[in-house]
Parts: sequence; structure tokens; C-alpha cells
Amino acid sequence: MSSKIPSRFWNSLSFRLTLWYAGIFTITSLVAFLLFYLLITTLLRERTDQELAGQAEQFSLVLRERGIDAVEAFAVLEAQAAGVKKVFFRLLYPNGEAFSSSSMSYWQDIAIRKKAVEQLLAGDRRVFETILLRARQDQVRVLYALIGPGVILQVGRSMENTARIIGAFRGIFLTTMALLLGVAMGVGWFMARRAVSGVEAVTRTAQIVSGGSLEKRVPVKTRGDEIDQLAMTFNQMLDRIQTLVTEIREMSDNIAHDLKSPITRIRGIAEVTLTTGKNLAEYETMAASAIEECDRLLDMINTMLMISKTEAGVDRPACDKIDLAALVREACELFGTTAEDRGLKMTCTLPDACDLRGDARMIRRLIANLLDNALKYTPSGGAVDVSLAETRQNAILTVRDTGIGISSADLPRIFERFFRGDQSRSQAGIGLGLSLARALARAHGGEITVASRPGEGSVFTVTLPRSGLEFSAAACGELSVAPKRS
Ligand code: ADP
Repeated sequence: MSSKIPSRFWNSLSFRLTLWYAGIFTITSLVAFLLFYLLITTLLRERTDQELAGQAEQFSLVLRERGIDAVEAFAVLEAQAAGVKKVFFRLLYPNGEAFSSSSMSYWQDIAIRKKAVEQLLAGDRRVFETILLRARQDQVRVLYALIGPGVILQVGRSMENTARIIGAFRGIFLTTMALLLGVAMGVGWFMARRAVSGVEAVTRTAQIVSGGSLEKRVPVKTRGDEIDQLAMTFNQMLDRIQTLVTEIREMSDNIAHDLKSPITRIRGIAEVTLTTGKNLAEYETMAASAIEECDRLLDMINTMLMISKTEAGVDRPACDKIDLAALVREACELFGTTAEDRGLKMTCTLPDACDLRGDARMIRRLIANLLDNALKYTPSGGAVDVSLAETRQNAILTVRDTGIGISSADLPRIFERFFRGDQSRSQAGIGLGLSLARALARAHGGEITVASRPGEGSVFTVTLPRSGLEFSAAACGELSVAPKRS
């Protein structure tokens, strides 16, 4: 049988759960049966003992009132009344010798137990024993009792009725057990299947997904149990994986595209110079242009690497005590000249100092990216305001411009790698500045948010936690836990 059913079935959780269920049910029922069995046999034996004791009392009374001859006659009559195959009476001397009895032809195997007689003589009121008559498959309960001076009564009663009751009870129990075991296995199997079907659904979906269909999801029931939780968590994980895969696909498309352009340009420059170049000056110009394009390429590759390393927590920020106000002031001075050249009014409102723990190199890059964008995307005549405020927990840097602004469609995407707004195509850029800025802020335990209206300008707000300041340098390492990703 087992060769036809796959071993997967025997190892399955459903089968094992059913087995456990049926096993526990069987053991519990058996224990209950045993207790009940013990109770019934004890009760029946006690009832027999009481009847035997009652008869001994009667014999004692007859002996006392009517003498030994009446007892002998009484024994014969009682045995006949109850049935000579049901009871027997034997009267004994204190030395254990029988001097009278009811018909003993059916009870020849029943001996007189000397020890029981001695126990009576030693003072015991009654001595009971159970004798198994193997030949007749019967049990006899025997009582020895001193019914008068020098007269011992041995009375025996067949336990056939008791055995019949217990036999019937056993039969009922076994039939009921067989039925209930069947029901238990059925119910166990049903319950196990119900519990496991959710897990199977997850497994099936995982198999389909690993085959390449990333859009497949586990159907979630509305029971809200652990299996539903598992299905929901699994679906969330798939959503996340799908988003990541889509992002990676888009990113590799973008990388391919962004690498292709400069390489094509370098090739073009080289080709034109080779075919038309006549003198050293033209070759020098070609070399300069090629170097410029290569620098742009290297810059892009380095920025991409920096984002990836920062996001993955490989490039951990240093945990130095830095003055953010000084870093912003430095940047304002640096970008002030460019702002002037572009006809922009730039103001910086900063506190004297704003201490926090972090990586000065990274923070400088973050500020530079935001200022560079603000200047790039604000037409001449506009204004760029930089301000720094601090609360007990955070330092808040705001870069506000009156530039072209960002459309509501672009707004959620501007932090994506290689994303560039349509309106910004006229400006130089590769779409990595904000991705890097966000990765750097998050590596410091902070965040960047943006608010913008097309044609009115944009406000970028960077929040950096200051709580690290009170921490020791070691505790500060907590800043650089793997950055959260949206
Ligand atoms: P890049 O500036 O190289 O295009 P970024 O990652 O720095 O790349 O910015 C992504 C996009 O966000 C830009 O292409 C632009 O559309 C938009 N953007 C960023 N900063 C501003 C700003 N200050 N004003 C208007 N648009 C902005």
C-alpha cells in the first residue's frame, strides 16, 4: 500500500497532524475506559461481597436461633433457590474440615483454603477470595465467615453475571472506540487540511513566483488567523520584491542609456578627429573632450557606487562631532559666487553653531547637492534662501528657492535614481543628486522631504538627529544602521 502512495503523503504535515490527533484521542479514550472499567469492576465486586456478607449474616442468625441442623437444611434450600450452579455453601469445623454442604457436584474444583480459616481464627471477621476456574472460564467469589462458635461458613458465588456485564461493556467500548477513531481521524484530517491549505497556497505561490511570475499573490481569506497573517506578510514581501525588481530593471535601463550617451559622444569625437583632423591642435581638442566625457562618466559611476554603498550600510558615516552651521556657512560662501553670476539672490540664515555627530564629508556633499539644484533650477532674478534651525532632537536645514518648481506627477519620483524632470532636461545633470542626498541623510538617521509648486519654487527640508551628540562614539555607531528604504 505504501508503495502506491507517494512518501510525500506520509511525511506531510496533514498526515502527521491527523496521526497526532487520532493518537491523542485514542490514548485519552483508553485512559477513560480503564478508569471506568476499574470503577465498574470494583462496584460489581463490592456488590457481590455485600451479598455474600448478607448471606453469612443470615446463616449466623439461623444458627443462633435454630441450631446447626437448621443451618445445614438452610444451606441446601438457599443453594437450590439461587441455583446450584450459581452458589454453594459449605460448613466447616475450625480445623478446616467440611461437615456439611449444599450440592457441590458443580463446584468440585473449589478447595478449602487453610490460610483463610486460620485468618478467621486469628480474629478476622471475614476473608474474601476470588478463584478462577480455568476449565469453565468462570470466576467465583468466595467468603469465609465465622457464623457461630466452632462453625465456619464457606460461601461461593459465580461471577458469571459480572463477567457478562463487563464483557458487554468491553464490546460496546470497542465498537464505540472504532467508530469514534474513524470520526476522529476524519475530523483530524479535515482540520489538518484546513490549517495546512493556507501554507500550501503560500508554497504554490512561491513556486509560481520562483518560476518568474512576480505578479502572482496568495489569496487572503478574511479569517485573520495566523495563516492569513502569513499570506499577507508573504504578499507584502512579494510587493517589495516586485518593486525592487522593477526599480533594478529601470535602473539598469537608465544606466545603459546614461552610459551609452557619453561613450557614443567620445566615439564620435574620436571618429570625427580621425577622419578630419589635420593637425596636433585638433587632436589635443579631441583628447580634452574625451577626458571631459570620461570624467563625467567616472563621476556618474562613482556617485552610483556611493549611493549603493551608503544605502547598503557599507559606507558608514564617521561619527565625528561636527558643526553643521559651519558646514552650511562654508557651502553658502562657495555657492554664493555662482548665485551672483547667475543673477540670483542668495541668503543664509544660520545660528552661530549647531553641533551634531556625523560625517562632515558626507554632510558637505548633501548640502552641495541641494544648493546646486536650487541654483540650477532657479532662473535669473530668483532667490535661494538657506536656513538652519535646531530643536532639542533635530537640526533642520531648509533650502528654499523660487525656481521652476516640480510637478505633482514628478514629485514622488525625484529621489529615484536617474530620474530627471522633463523641465530640467535643459540643465546639466544625471539624476543622481537627490538619490545620493537622501541616502546620506538616512545614513545619519535623518530624512529629506520636499514641497514644491510648478512655477513657484521648491522647499527641501533635511532633518538630522542631534541626539547622537550625547552618545559616546561607540553608541553613535547606531546612527549608521542599515538605512531605511521606501
Ligand atoms: P539632476 O539635478 O541631476 O537632474 P537630481 O537627482 O539632483 O538630478 O534631481 C532630480 C530631479 O528633481 C531633477 O531632474 C529636477 O527635475 C528635480 N529637482 C531637483 N531639485 C529641484 C529644484 N530645486 N527645483 C526644481 N526641480 C528640482
